[in-house]
Amino acid sequence: MLKIFETAENLPDKIAIVDKDKSYSYQTLLTKSKAVASFLLDGETDLNQNRVAFMVSPGFDYITVQWGIWLAGGIAAPLCITYPFPSLKYVIEDTGATIIIASPEYEEILSPYFSTSGIRFIKIGNFPEYGSFELPKVSKDRGAMILYTSGTTSLPKGVLTTHANIEAQVSTLVEAWQWSQQDYTLSILPLHHVHGIINVNSCALWSGATVEFLPQFDATGVFEIFKKGNVNVFMAVPTVYFKLIAYFETLSLIEQKEITQILEKFRLMVSGSAALPVSVMEKWHQISGHYLLERYGMTEIGMAISNPYEGERRAGHIGQPLPGVDIRICNESDEVIPFDQAGEIQVKGSNVFKEYWGKQEATQKAFTKDGWFKTGDIAVMENGYFKILGRDSVDIIKSGGYKISALEIEEILRTHPSVKDCGVIGIPNEEWGEIVAAAVIPYEHLDLEKLNHWMRERLPAYKTPRKYLSVHDLPRNAMGKVTKNELKKLF
Ligand code: ATP
Ligand code: MG
Repeated sequence: MLKIFETAENLPDKIAIVDKDKSYSYQTLLTKSKAVASFLLDGETDLNQNRVAFMVSPGFDYITVQWGIWLAGGIAAPLCITYPFPSLKYVIEDTGATIIIASPEYEEILSPYFSTSGIRFIKIGNFPEYGSFELPKVSKDRGAMILYTSGTTSLPKGVLTTHANIEAQVSTLVEAWQWSQQDYTLSILPLHHVHGIINVNSCALWSGATVEFLPQFDATGVFEIFKKGNVNVFMAVPTVYFKLIAYFETLSLIEQKEITQILEKFRLMVSGSAALPVSVMEKWHQISGHYLLERYGMTEIGMAISNPYEGERRAGHIGQPLPGVDIRICNESDEVIPFDQAGEIQVKGSNVFKEYWGKQEATQKAFTKDGWFKTGDIAVMENGYFKILGRDSVDIIKSGGYKISALEIEEILRTHPSVKDCGVIGIPNEEWGEIVAAAVIPYEHLDLEKLNHWMRERLPAYKTPRKYLSVHDLPRNAMGKVTKNELKKLF
């Protein structure tokens, strides 16, 4: 990710970051990052791939710490700021971090590490403003970051990416989505995850654009910042758009009109990390005049498939491979099959991660013999656009010899006027192998018998849920993704 520093050198006076109404130029950002780096080095010449775990609120400090670690030759391991202690401990110990950095608000939760031998604990306030600038030469094939997968299907896995991997992940998006110095984005996503780190912050700072931070998402806060009229690029997960829509609907007609006029001027609005319900895409279009650009990616590969920047953005589809990313579709024996048949997405390219940290066996299993990364996601191409059918492990329901996409059934359920949201899973059944089951969040009262009848009119019998459950909420992880293994336990 070393090329990102060139932008900063070339645009010293440009505003890089806006954090709590304070603006920071690229020069200030780079100077402070170098100071962090030299403090981390503490007289040594190179951090030599030591892992630095950091729990820092999104904003100027966060970026200086991330950049400082990179400049000093370390591997950045950002901690999720909403994790409880056991999850933090898991990441700290799994990475084998030798340095931990904390914002004041997280010092207490991390206090068990204040005096742990072998770990240097640094409080944000202790960094000097300036430092000596003798920094190591870091080659691109070195490890840069360990990010943990969202833990949607099992325990999060540490994903090690090199500087070259991250550069590939960023440069393909900058090209495909036409990032430029003129852009101004609002960063609201958690910063322990690829979406916020790569797609939002790194693409913006690589391009010389400006990033404004809202450390904790809330719909009012987002619209307040939008109203200032600077933001023109916005990226979020489907649940965020869902919440923005719900909030928008509570506003007066005058307020709604004001917001619509602002949103219409945006250059780009993106959704990803989980399937974007067609209903959300349609409602957001009514509100903002934008068809959300849906893309597909993973912690392990950055982004791989995207709807076009120019041209039709097709609801329920993820588009075509990004430049520099090779995609193939395979059957269960890793044999290539035509795009118009459902199979596993496999990926090759310099964007693909190096290894699961400390998990040699898992790394080996994740690649085919000829070096393609096995995503575990099932997709099919329809009229030139890929469509995700779901994860092989939890969304592809195997019932009576059929393979059923849970996502497809969820899409249909969501078109019922009384269904606010839903999650479909397969539950074990002696006769069928698995049967389809649906957990539904109703708007108000919902007669499940009638819903079942309604579904039967719309789907073949084998795809219609055999069991329904009315719930107040779906179990979700820190990224807002439905954790289907948890959902299964409810049935
Ligand atoms: P874990 O690997 O720990 O189970 P995770 O797979 O959710 O968690 P991430 O790397 O954050 O961790 O998410 C990548 C996954 O998110 C993809 O494999 C895919 O299943 C899903 N995903 C991403 N974008 C989309 C999309 N546009 N539509 C549907 N699914 C998506
Ligand atoms: Mg995964």
